[in-house]
Amino acid sequence: MTTISAYYDVETLRREYPLAQIVAASGVALRPVGARRHKGRCPFHDDRQPSFLVYDDDQHFHCFGCGAHGDVIDFVRRRLDLSFVDACAWLAGQPAPSVRQVQPAGRPPGERRWDRLTLDEQVVMNMAGALYHDRLWHTPHALAYVRSRGLPNWVIRDGRLGYADGHSLATFLRRRFSLALAQRLGLLRRARGDDALGPSDEFLAGRIVVPELRGGQCVWFIGRALDDAKGPKYLALPGERPVLGYARVAGQREAFLCEGVFDYLTAVSWKLPAFSPCGTHLSADRLGFLARARVVYGVLDGDAAGQEASARFAEQLGARWQPLPLPDGCDLNDLARRPDGRAEFFELLHAARVARGKEADGGG
Ligand SMILES: [Zn+2]
Repeated sequence: MTTISAYYDVETLRREYPLAQIVAASGVALRPVGARRHKGRCPFHDDRQPSFLVYDDDQHFHCFGCGAHGDVIDFVRRRLDLSFVDACAWLAGQPAPSVRQVQPAGRPPGERRWDRLTLDEQVVMNMAGALYHDRLWHTPHALAYVRSRGLPNWVIRDGRLGYADGHSLATFLRRRFSLALAQRLGLLRRARGDDALGPSDEFLAGRIVVPELRGGQCVWFIGRALDDAKGPKYLALPGERPVLGYARVAGQREAFLCEGVFDYLTAVSWKLPAFSPCGTHLSADRLGFLARARVVYGVLDGDAAGQEASARFAEQLGARWQPLPLPDGCDLNDLARRPDGRAEFFELLHAARVARGKEADGGG
């Protein structure tokens, strides 16, 4: 155990290490909003629309997505997963004021790759997945929500869908395993205070949890809020998003790229080989798993972001790419909940298959 005899003057640290510079040095791109504020993507949740604000006047940050909040010491603690004293030591060890060049030590949580878990981490992920799944079956309003989205029980079971009730995970893990690991994975967030094993919050509290399964193991979770009024619709464990449904499509001849999580689950319920980037972005260096697909059907939203994504995928996937625009600009889950939605979709798909067949004949 290291003896820390240094005394840190917290006020001096706050004054000498401007929060905006420390945030920027840790790899968060900030842009000014007005004279004394800066905005960027939150490093503590999967942030699509810059929700993270830094205020120069009182040197604090606040995220309007996940609620992260604090001063420069809080920021360093969370960003580098350090104790209060270690965060002060880390700051004091930075050459002030030219902190711009400083690379933070340790692994920023934002850089986690979910296809690389240690044995212990995977055990904790599996336990969390099992607990969430159990909670879903025992939480009537959460189960009612999933059913209202048209998903049958076998999809809930096979897809190991879950529900994070906000309090069971810490209790469950305390009995069995390391809470610190769950914090490192982002499943639990340390509540205020220095005690690493003190009370903590479930990151995905109040959400339907959809895991990415690899070999039957949960490697990642994304959560859909039951109540749209409470925070962002979706929260995902931070880091590089794995492709949701990878194992369903890797090596298949046909694949369905679905923009949304529930669109993907709808396609799964129709027994289609579907996957989702959980959004519209999937970089070219991650498309290799589609190499054997003759066709990748694009089931994207009809909005500007969906159209832009379609153009991008067309460029990356070439002749494999086949957008399937849905009627009235609705998404697949909306369509599925219309009386003839399923039939309508399979007619569209049939027409697209016939058209591709003719093209192939004409070209051959
Ligand atoms: Zn946030």
